[in-house]
Amino acid sequence: AASISFEAVGKAFAKPGGGTVHALEDVSLRVEPGSITGIIGRSGAGKSTLLRMVNGLERPTSGRVLLGAHDVGTARGRALRDIRRDVGMIFQHFNLLASRTVAGNIAMPLEIAGVAKSEITARVAELVERVGLSQQANRYPAELSGGQKQRVGIARALATKPKVLLSDEATSALDPETTQTVLSLLKDINRDLGLTVLLITHEMAVVRDIASHVAVIDGGRIVEHGPTHDVFIAPKHATTRSFLSGVTGVKLPAFVKSRLQNTPSEGGEEVIRVTFFGQHATDPMLAKLTGELGIEVNILAGAVEEIGSHPFGNLLVSLPAARGEEARRYLQDHNLNTEVLGYVG
Ligand code: ADP
Repeated sequence: AASISFEAVGKAFAKPGGGTVHALEDVSLRVEPGSITGIIGRSGAGKSTLLRMVNGLERPTSGRVLLGAHDVGTARGRALRDIRRDVGMIFQHFNLLASRTVAGNIAMPLEIAGVAKSEITARVAELVERVGLSQQANRYPAELSGGQKQRVGIARALATKPKVLLSDEATSALDPETTQTVLSLLKDINRDLGLTVLLITHEMAVVRDIASHVAVIDGGRIVEHGPTHDVFIAPKHATTRSFLSGVTGVKLPAFVKSRLQNTPSEGGEEVIRVTFFGQHATDPMLAKLTGELGIEVNILAGAVEEIGSHPFGNLLVSLPAARGEEARRYLQDHNLNTEVLGYVG
């Protein structure tokens, strides 16, 4: 396993119409060897740019990117090829060659590296076994399910025995059940081979299910970074809280949903989602809201999960729309995230 260090990394792109986009600004992040680190952020936040720096597909405009002791940003020629052998990558849409079989796809990086034929055959047999595709080795991608295609992608990424595995939204195109099998395969690989895994995602659920550490990126900057457990129970940044609010699914009762409007009406109620993160018992908080501010709160629905022994989840509540802003400010001041879902008359 190797560490990955970003040291004050900046990346500017020239905009096609003139001007510059600052895709990354002053990013400092150390990815511990052997960890599974999730990078989470919205579309355009800079996730792919960050990931692509690890194998030298992008070079920093300022700062340094280190893979172990090697400076990736300045590597050229042979040094860059060596780094790329140490870094495997898997993709959202698998990027398999349709004209090659499973075995043929997995063999590609080995052929490029000039490995002897007999050795390739042995290595491919080992890899298809590891990802559970021994029976499918001679099939073509078109004959495989999405999950099987991603297994081929993973085997191919492991072919050159890399120290680091990069994952670019590798489960985003898969259904929930297949996502779970692919994530547990990645976990097994991380554990058995001691690979450092850096994965980008826009889903906190993926982070929860697999990552030991998480970094939240927003507008090209890392706004929060730490062990997943710590970030889940005590998120510090609004962006983190907003990502966490989507983890636990909770639905409005149909009788409320059907009456939901976009604008408040005189004397009506506001419906909000309150997300809590383990450090607070929410019911007492809502009782305090009533006690201290005299705002009557109605709990409509709730869903709670645990991380470690800490609860986190969502409550859907309604309260008088006229007091809505005040109530939300109070809850946010107590580190609960709130989001207005609509209004009922
Ligand atoms: P994410 O992966 O989080 O969606 P990206 O890293 O792809 O974000 O992009 C970050 C920002 O950099 C975006 O504003 C994007 O438009 C810009 N960007 C990325 N690659 C290029 C490029 N090759 N040329 C110009 N702008 C780019």
